[in-house]
Amino acid sequence: MNVSPMFANMSLSLPVAKAITKMGFTTPTPIQEKAIPIILKGVDAISLAETGSGKTAAYLIPVVSHLLADSERQALILAPTRELVTQISDVVKQFTQFAQEMNFAVVIGGAPLFKQLKQLARRPRIIVATPGRLVDHLRRGSLDLKKLSHLVLDEADRMFDMGFAPQVNEVIRRIPSQRQTLLFSATFPKEIRELAGRVLRNPVEIEVRKNQLPPAVIAQKMISVTVADKNDRTLDLINAATGSVIVFTRTKHRTDRLARYLEEYGVAVTRIHGDRSQGQRNKSISGFKSGLYRVMVATDIAARGLDVSEISDVINYDIPMNAEDYIHRIGRTGRAGQEGRAMTLVTPEETHDWAHIARKMGLPLPEMAKKARQAKQHRPGRQGRFFRK
Ligand code: AMP
Repeated sequence: MNVSPMFANMSLSLPVAKAITKMGFTTPTPIQEKAIPIILKGVDAISLAETGSGKTAAYLIPVVSHLLADSERQALILAPTRELVTQISDVVKQFTQFAQEMNFAVVIGGAPLFKQLKQLARRPRIIVATPGRLVDHLRRGSLDLKKLSHLVLDEADRMFDMGFAPQVNEVIRRIPSQRQTLLFSATFPKEIRELAGRVLRNPVEIEVRKNQLPPAVIAQKMISVTVADKNDRTLDLINAATGSVIVFTRTKHRTDRLARYLEEYGVAVTRIHGDRSQGQRNKSISGFKSGLYRVMVATDIAARGLDVSEISDVINYDIPMNAEDYIHRIGRTGRAGQEGRAMTLVTPEETHDWAHIARKMGLPLPEMAKKARQAKQHRPGRQGRFFRK
């Protein structure tokens, strides 16, 4: 098996290099090109990682290489959602396929404890976990991390948004201070900077992208609709799409309702939201990945983590809460450099909130928002009237 020269130059361990070839990666993505050599040096690193950038491999390639070099080493990867953990563990499986000694454990809430206990009893070399369930295991003594050598915090900002700060802090208190720590985050709010200052030692900053914009391969479009039109327009867009489609709604109820509507029109649709059981979610995701369902209707819970390469279109049935969620939602398409389309349905009621996101994304403003802005500019400001001498 020939390893592509660009990866071969990185002097990776053989099982990892073989896995890269088997996975069909020929060229490192920009974040991999920067991060892999830095992480291989053993220093702490912090990275602003764009969705779909190849960040999982950017840390797994060097971390697995380190673990292969010393059988005492152990790595913990913390991620905010069960979906993301499952997805990371799939990538771990691929990178360790030529190194049978590298057993790993998946630790997530909502999954049977028995299987996890069995995996943990075998002293896994890699643990991929959500913070809550991991802390449960640490407290009940089913997991001992005294020899941990690598800690990865993936989607750190989302972990904080979801209220996992106490659990993350508890994990950090229970692991050796002598370790390599890597932090990946889509954004760097105050809490993440504070965390980085506390748990990383002289971290190298790996920055691939300066401004928070979605990948250029994604064509973005806004479509003005009325509330009553939303279902029909969504159906039209689905019918016009060339590949799999993910549709985002604001609530669980709206997800269920839209999925039922699409089903009535013969669309092979599945749905995912926080009220569905882990079993239902897994089934939904695997059915979507295998092509059994062409369309997935989802709340934002699926915006992170879900990695299906053939998603041609993302439809925002409801506008997202903010620009960050927008980037994460539309990042489900345009994966690994492929082209994608992202359409956002905007009702008159949503125009104001959408304009806020559109401005941040550098997208054209909806006509109505433009008019409102112009009207505001022509009105004499209060300050002008009352304070001018
Ligand atoms: P991630 O940002 O880690 O979720 O990765 C996004 C997608 O890019 C996944 O489908 C990966 O399998 C794929 N990917 C990661 N690295 C490479 C690479 N060097 N070449 C091709 N595809 C890649």
